Amino acid sequence: MSDVLLFSAGLDSFPAWHYLDKPPALYFDLGHRYRDQERAAITALVDRCGIEVSVSRELDLSRWEADNAIIPLRNVYLAMLAANRAERIWCVGVKGDATADKSPQAFRQISQMITDLSGRPVWLDSPFWQMTKTEIVAWYLGQGLPAGNLLLTFSCSRTDSAATHCGRCSSCLRRWISLVNNGIDAPFETDPWTWARVADYYVPAMRDGTYPDHRAEEFFAALDAVGFVPPPPAHPATAEDGQR
Ligand SMILES: [Zn+2]
Repeated sequence: MSDVLLFSAGLDSFPAWHYLDKPPALYFDLGHRYRDQERAAITALVDRCGIEVSVSRELDLSRWEADNAIIPLRNVYLAMLAANRAERIWCVGVKGDATADKSPQAFRQISQMITDLSGRPVWLDSPFWQMTKTEIVAWYLGQGLPAGNLLLTFSCSRTDSAATHCGRCSSCLRRWISLVNNGIDAPFETDPWTWARVADYYVPAMRDGTYPDHRAEEFFAALDAVGFVPPPPAHPATAEDGQR
């Protein structure tokens, strides 16, 4: 069976490349706002690790990118295009991911749709549905792979073109949690736990069951690791930003 890994140079897809034993990788430059940083990270990782990455600009979805960096149906578009190249498409989702187009159920539906409409079997799957980001980083380090290469990845939803991690977005928060829980002190422009939204939104939301238990446990473990004592909730939690 031919395989391809949808690669974003992020903290999930880089360990996935190792986990899947270095399959061919494919990056779609969708014209989205942090693609410059992602492409720089790809260049750095290719130089360091010899990843075979095809970069494609066949689809521009910039018009549909929302303020929170979400592109509706992104993974459906990517799976359809990747299906021209391989039978099995690896797209990294992690334990608890439940956005509309990224969940085990969504991937089964997308696989079925492409299989039915293309007339040949296509599988869209993630190697990490049973692992949290913290567990993925732990697996990577457990293989004796260098922590420094993890820091070459890019996973931030910042709106400008700076190459650093802002420390004030949900992507940075998740990155920080998975790294600090593995004892890695990663650079951020500002310490993620000092982002106002951590105390105002995430602390109450993690307490009230808005997020799965494993997300809450890893969140509070990370705060504990830096000695941050969470304040009592100042406002009721809202689900305004969903589970990013
Ligand atoms: Zn960020």
